[in-house]
Amino acid sequence: MLRRSGPLAALAVIALAACGGREPDAAAPVADERAERGDLLVIDNARVFDGERDLGTVALVLRDGRIERIEAAGSEVLPADVERIDYSGRHIIPGLVNAHAHVGNTEGTEHGDRFYMRDIVVRDLRQFQAYGVTTLVSLGMNGAAFPQIRAEVAGDPGLGAQLFGAGAGVGTSDGAPPAANMGLEQDPVARPTDAASAREAVRAQAETGVDVIKLWVDDLGGKAPEMTPEVYRAAIEEAHRHDLLVAAHIHDLAPAADLVASGVDIIAHGVRDQPIYAALAAAMREAGTGYIATLQIDEANYIYAEHPEWLDTPFLRNALPEAVVRQWSDAEWRATKLADPATQRARDAVAMNLRNLATLRESGVAIGFGTDAGALPHRVAGFAEHRELELMLQAGYTPQQALTVATRDSARLLQLDDRGLLQPGRRADFVVLSADPLADIRNTRRIEAVWQAGRQVAGPVGEYAID
Ligand SMILES: [Zn+2]
Repeated sequence: MLRRSGPLAALAVIALAACGGREPDAAAPVADERAERGDLLVIDNARVFDGERDLGTVALVLRDGRIERIEAAGSEVLPADVERIDYSGRHIIPGLVNAHAHVGNTEGTEHGDRFYMRDIVVRDLRQFQAYGVTTLVSLGMNGAAFPQIRAEVAGDPGLGAQLFGAGAGVGTSDGAPPAANMGLEQDPVARPTDAASAREAVRAQAETGVDVIKLWVDDLGGKAPEMTPEVYRAAIEEAHRHDLLVAAHIHDLAPAADLVASGVDIIAHGVRDQPIYAALAAAMREAGTGYIATLQIDEANYIYAEHPEWLDTPFLRNALPEAVVRQWSDAEWRATKLADPATQRARDAVAMNLRNLATLRESGVAIGFGTDAGALPHRVAGFAEHRELELMLQAGYTPQQALTVATRDSARLLQLDDRGLLQPGRRADFVVLSADPLADIRNTRRIEAVWQAGRQVAGPVGEYAID
C-alpha cells in the first residue's frame, strides 16, 4: 500500500541470511546431510492464530529460521527423526511488530541520550523480546552506534528483538523534541531551518543507513515553534528520493492534513486534541497513509500513580527497575502526580485518541502498532505493548483484530513482507501462550516461550497472577 519499495525488507533478507549461515563441510558427511536438510523442526499440536486467521490445531514445520510449511497436527508425512516440540494445549501468535518504540534511552527513573550505548540498547531489545515483541522500530533519538548495534542484533536473535530504526531523526530548532525534557545532552537530532538544510539532514541520515526518516511536527502545546511546511515538505521529498519511509510525530490535528497531502507515509502518534474529520480520514485512506495511535503513551503519565490492581502482577513487576518500583510506591510522588493538571489533560488525550482510532478503523485507514515504549521510564518496554492491545478494545477492536494490527498490519506498514504472518516462507517469529488470546486479549500476557528466527529465545516472563 505504501509507495516506498523497502530498504526495510531488503535489510530483513540480509539479516536472516546472516543468522541462517550454515556452511556445508565437505570433510564431514553427517554435517553435509544436516546442511542439506537444514535444521528441520516441527512445532506440533498448538492452536495457531497466523496473524489473520485461527488455523486451529496444526503443525508448523520450520527450516532455517522460517516456516517451511504448515501440516495437520501430529502429521505422519514428516521424517520420523525430525525433532518435534509438543505444544499441546498452547496457543501461538506471531511475534509482535512494534513500529514505534525507543531503545537505549532510560536507566532506572532517568532518561537521556547519555544512555545510548550498546549494552543498554541490547538490554532493552531483550526485554521487548521476552514480552513477545520480535521486531521493533526505534523511531528517533538513536545514537551514532545504531547501525553497528542493528547489524549485531540482526546476526544473533538471542540478543533481542530485531532492530530497525530512524537515526537521530529530524526536529525543530528550540522545539520538538525538546532537548532539555528529553535529556538530549549531546542532542543528536537534526534541526533544519529551511528546505535546503532539511534536505541535507535527510541525506546525511540516509547515508548512515537508517531504515526510516523521523520528523517531529509539534508545537508542544503552543510553547514552541513547530516545524514549518517548507521544512517537512522538503524532508519528505528528499526521503522519498532515497526510497525511505517518513514517519511523523504529531500530537494535534492541525498539521495532519497537510502532512498527508505532502506524502508523509506514517503518522506516528494518535491525534489527541480534536476529532479527526471524515475528509481527513478519506484522504489518509486514499493516500495509503499509515497511522499508529500509541494509546498507552498518555495513560502511562498517570495510570501507575493510580496504583491499579495489576501494578503488582509479576508480569509488570518483572519489567520494572527497582528504582521505578520505589518511585511508584511513594505516596507523595503519587499524590503530586494525580494532582498535577497535566494528569487531567492526559486523560482527555487518551479519550480523544481512542475516539480517533475508532474513526480511522471504521474508515479503512491502515493502522500499525506502536507504543513509544522505551522513550521514558514509565513507558515500560514490553508491558506497554500488552496494555496497548487491551486499550485497543476500547476503540472497538476485537482481540483478533487488535492482534492482526500488531502483527500483519504493522509489518505491512513497514513493508516487511517476511514477517507479521505465520505463513510458509516467512520468519518463524512467534509467541507461545498458555491461554487463548482470541478469547481474552489479556491472555497475551501468559507467555510460555518466545521464538525468533526459528529459535527459542525466551521462556515465561514470570508467574502471571490474574487480576
Ligand atoms: Zn517516539
